[in-house]
Amino acid sequence: MDSKYGSWRNLNDPIISRSASRWWLDIQKACGIVTQGAWFDNFIEWVVGGGKKVKFWEDKWIGEESLCCKFPRLYLISDCKERVIEEVGHWEENVWVWDLTWRRLRLVWEVAMEEQLILLLNRHSLKIGISDTWKWKDNDNGVFSVKSAYNKLQGSSNEEENKEFKTLWSIRVAPKAQLLGWRLFLDKLPTKVKLAARGIQLQNNLCEMCLASEENAEHLFFSCRASQKVWNMCDRWIGVSSVHHVNARDNFQHFHLVNLNRRQNKIWQGMWLAIVGEIWKHRNGVIFKHRKVDPEEIFALAQASLYRSLLTKGPRQIINTIVHVDQSPSCQK
Ligand SMILES: [Zn+2]
Repeated sequence: MDSKYGSWRNLNDPIISRSASRWWLDIQKACGIVTQGAWFDNFIEWVVGGGKKVKFWEDKWIGEESLCCKFPRLYLISDCKERVIEEVGHWEENVWVWDLTWRRLRLVWEVAMEEQLILLLNRHSLKIGISDTWKWKDNDNGVFSVKSAYNKLQGSSNEEENKEFKTLWSIRVAPKAQLLGWRLFLDKLPTKVKLAARGIQLQNNLCEMCLASEENAEHLFFSCRASQKVWNMCDRWIGVSSVHHVNARDNFQHFHLVNLNRRQNKIWQGMWLAIVGEIWKHRNGVIFKHRKVDPEEIFALAQASLYRSLLTKGPRQIINTIVHVDQSPSCQK
């Protein structure tokens, strides 16, 4: 594999040799490099054999973090950076002896820290002639399976996390609106901050709706003063006052009315999707068509879009009930 696909060592190494195959680059992309949360890296750990592949300081092979994170001061003065484990010691009659070297004499407290490090290292023994391998933490047998990776990515071990998604897909609105909500939940909308993180050059990262803050999803949809006006108009429409969470999933979860049952709330949550949909459209209009920022227009279009999506009479009646009859302040989002 090393010779065929380039100087491979770790899927999360951000630098990969130019000779690496397309196939290999795709796998690396799917595994999410460090800037994308390194999800893959979080679920594997090295099982060190002879220490030929694992980097002593930089890789995670003892405990939950790499030694450079656990002992940052020692790492700074280490002379063994970027070396694999087998280069940081030697065998003496079948006993492994660590050769830690330093760029300068250690201060007293650094010596104490080194002792701690040695104590930790001595709990681990290297095995001559055995290769270093990966272990998939999520399976008892340590073997990777697509199913467990999929579950990890979906976060399905946590039912709470899935609840919003299930609700989202069960709202009776156009699939396009659901898709936008889904992308927002996963923070996958191409806001300026997201684009900049992907290396796309922009004039600035500012939110075009207020020009006062960076444009990330939390800001654009929930804390921007223009968006806040829209949410406040929605509150006034149904006669409640509510706390507006800036996290999309939290905001969505709290967007329900206590006096409605689950089915009726699902219809009401269509309004949430209509608002975020119109905010996104409006933002695109401001950026690409130089339109004026107009929260009232966003709200009016969201109302219209909600009514359009409620094709049958029943749901319309429910919304009419919320708006015209129940103005009770006991409602909360
Ligand atoms: Zn803004």
